[in-house]
Amino acid sequence: MSELLANYVSGQWQLGSGSGTPLIDPVAGDELVRVDATGLNLKEIFQFSREQGGQSLRAMGYQDRAGLLKSILELLQAKKDLYYEISQRNSGTVKNDSAVDIEGALFTLGFYAKLGQSLENHRFLKDGDPARLAKDPLFQSQHILTPTPGVALLINAFNFPAWGLWEKAAPALLSGVPVIIKPATATAWLTHQMVKDVIEANILPAGALSIICGSSNGLLDQLKSFDVVSFTGSADTAKIIRSHPAVTQHSVRVNIEADSVNSALLLPQQTSGPVFDLFIKEVVREMTVKSGQKCTAIRRIFVPESDVNVVKEALVERLSKTTIGNPRNESVRMGALVSHSQKQSVLEGIARFKNSAQVFFDGSSQSLIDADQNSCCVAPTLFGFDKASDAILARDIHQTEVFGPVATVLPYQNIPQALEMVAMGEGSLVASVYGDEVVSLAQVVTDMAAFHGRLHIISSDVGGMHTGHGNVMPQSIHGGPGRAGGGEELGGVRGLSFYHRRTAIQASTQVIEAMFSRSNS
Ligand code: NAP
Repeated sequence: MSELLANYVSGQWQLGSGSGTPLIDPVAGDELVRVDATGLNLKEIFQFSREQGGQSLRAMGYQDRAGLLKSILELLQAKKDLYYEISQRNSGTVKNDSAVDIEGALFTLGFYAKLGQSLENHRFLKDGDPARLAKDPLFQSQHILTPTPGVALLINAFNFPAWGLWEKAAPALLSGVPVIIKPATATAWLTHQMVKDVIEANILPAGALSIICGSSNGLLDQLKSFDVVSFTGSADTAKIIRSHPAVTQHSVRVNIEADSVNSALLLPQQTSGPVFDLFIKEVVREMTVKSGQKCTAIRRIFVPESDVNVVKEALVERLSKTTIGNPRNESVRMGALVSHSQKQSVLEGIARFKNSAQVFFDGSSQSLIDADQNSCCVAPTLFGFDKASDAILARDIHQTEVFGPVATVLPYQNIPQALEMVAMGEGSLVASVYGDEVVSLAQVVTDMAAFHGRLHIISSDVGGMHTGHGNVMPQSIHGGPGRAGGGEELGGVRGLSFYHRRTAIQASTQVIEAMFSRSNS
């Protein structure tokens, strides 16, 4: 049997009492490690984290805690090779795809370490300016943000075991809130290794960082009034979390990052020139990076009806060059899906879409490299429509996220119709728009904004420098309205507000001034 990974809770390593759930190499089929959380004393674990971790972190200022993030970053950077190896074995990803997760994690950690250095070394944040409440300016209102005196329960999806950990833990720890991380079982190994390295390096105070691998049973029951939950995963699990009695009874603040049917929109008259090439390249990249297992991936591709054929040809030409198989082989560009259950779910999604749309490209006839049909490799499939009148009726396509290398070309006759179809996704994390006419781009942006957390606007002038449709940059918020979960993470200093409580202080200006000078001590 493989190694059973220990949980790090209440300041010590503790094995679950069960035999554990195996984590499997999705290409070779080998058992890698096992995880188990049976028998843990969750009440004690949450209490230890709240009391020991919370008090130690809150006793520090923002710059002190930024220093902790910097030390974590330096430690993880030195151990990157191991993380790439675990990622390849457990997630079945090629090096470039593992980099999206691992380098994305380190970049985000570094960003928050730097941001923390730019804050005052106080124990709370000032929120806006004082506002006069009475005729006499002596009595004013000043808002402040103080770290919530609870624990942050972070529950992550399988597709970002490294970034998913640090994009949540960095803002939480910088805010002064202790973290309990529950990674998705299928890929918990990488999260576990990173946490293990940080614990062994003794960077953080006791109780600041804990990890529970395995079943989520009982975790939500432990939540109390000042705790927060940041969840990334499916809309179904999100529903369970939102309606959990501990969440509703104790008004626990919850952030949900759920699934999303994201769009790319090509504006009219773009089929020759650099914007068209940028569009084609990005759509193919989004379909194939991490085998399409990205919450931000482009699922719906909106193009003028007259351009369907030229778009189809360009996409098919590129997609047919995608080499698929064992990520250990250097000629492979796209590795595997994470597990057999994901493969099953993607194949079912492809079968279902065949009832609604035409197949523009089916890569499944291509041979896999160094992998067989028992592996979790799935080739890209591009669906599409010739007519806008059919595209607008295809509800299933607008509302189903097939979490793999699958996307659909949807023609439109005019911009209002394109926007109507984009909105049929019922709220998305991100959409990208490709065009070269500044006024049209600006108009579309204002029309689309309310339906999205992020809009990525590509004109030829930014072609050489843009950060990518699917890449989440810590400077910009991540999250989306409606079916995307309604959450919001990152976005620079905005990412800290979730972990703080806002309080209005109505007092004499002398008291307000004294608060700011005394908090330095
Ligand atoms: P999932 O099945 O919902 O699982 C997500 C996490 O929730 C896992 O850690 C899972 O643990 C845990 N969980 C399951 N049942 C739970 C319960 N009753 N109470 C508390 N936690 C529970 O999602 P997934 O399959 O890992 O991830 C794929 C989905 O995530 C896709 O739909 C994708 O779009 C979405 N996603 C969204 C974002 C975003 O930022 N918006 C990013 C990445 C992925 P176990 O693994 O142990 O079951």
